[in-house]
Amino acid sequence: MELKTRCESEELLKLRYLNRRMTLSENDKTYYLAKEKGYEGELIFDSHISGLTDNFITLNDLLFEVNNQHIQIDSLMIKQNTIYPFEVKNFEGDYYIDNDNWYSISRTPITNPILQMERSETLLRRLLYQLGYTSVNSNLVFVNSKFHLYHAPMNKQIIFPTQINRFLCSLDRQPSTLDDSHFILANRLLSHHISKSPYTKVPEYEYEKVRKGNLCSKCLSFNLIVDNYIVVCLDCGCKESVSSSIMRHVREYMLLFPDKKITTSGIWEWCGIIKSKKTIQVTLSNNYKLIQKGRSSFYIPE
Ligand SMILES: [Zn+2]
Repeated sequence: MELKTRCESEELLKLRYLNRRMTLSENDKTYYLAKEKGYEGELIFDSHISGLTDNFITLNDLLFEVNNQHIQIDSLMIKQNTIYPFEVKNFEGDYYIDNDNWYSISRTPITNPILQMERSETLLRRLLYQLGYTSVNSNLVFVNSKFHLYHAPMNKQIIFPTQINRFLCSLDRQPSTLDDSHFILANRLLSHHISKSPYTKVPEYEYEKVRKGNLCSKCLSFNLIVDNYIVVCLDCGCKESVSSSIMRHVREYMLLFPDKKITTSGIWEWCGIIKSKKTIQVTLSNNYKLIQKGRSSFYIPE
């Protein structure tokens, strides 16, 4: 049973939107692509988990503060007798270990994921101890089938791509009966979860400097036309109703510019290709609540 589902973090969404609308510096772009890759890896892991029987609770994307330090857990599985946190890595290509240090094949040092997992486990143990639980078994999972690690240690906590199914099947075969205590633990962990990460690295941006306009929902092209209330992509042929396209861009606008009010004129300018302000107004009225203050009016999600 999945008690906390996974979705893109606010940071990843902002980076994704900004990448389409401005030129990111090389560092920001590298950081953004690593975030996309990490998220893609977590989804791959989720797809493996989804095939298992339902004798455990999963909590995804957890962030805790323990002893003034933060720990992030990609996926946590609560079974009858043990808690299994998973650190998911979507590394692709060849890597090697030299004296406990990890490198990509181009000799670029990378953070040792075993140490990262051990650090997280130590802190998680402290938190669980406070909640009255002690049995923890962490695992580091490499999900990308194009990953290879030279000089790989024989460490039972490391799960390589070819081992994932066998590992999960054997975990699944362990009998596990959940009772109220497991759900109480899950909810207590959720109550410790911090929803806003202190470590986000979104570059500075201003409304005036980001490119406005609707993007295709499929190929992200700006090359769109509106034909009879349908937005058509001239690059990939994808079609979307005008109202769906407008609301998709309203959500993007709200996330990128949380201080800006949702007004007909504002969204008209943001969307760009919708010529009729009336269409924007009707769409906003159908989806959001109109707030009227003196001579100005704006919309808020209901
Ligand atoms: Zn397209």
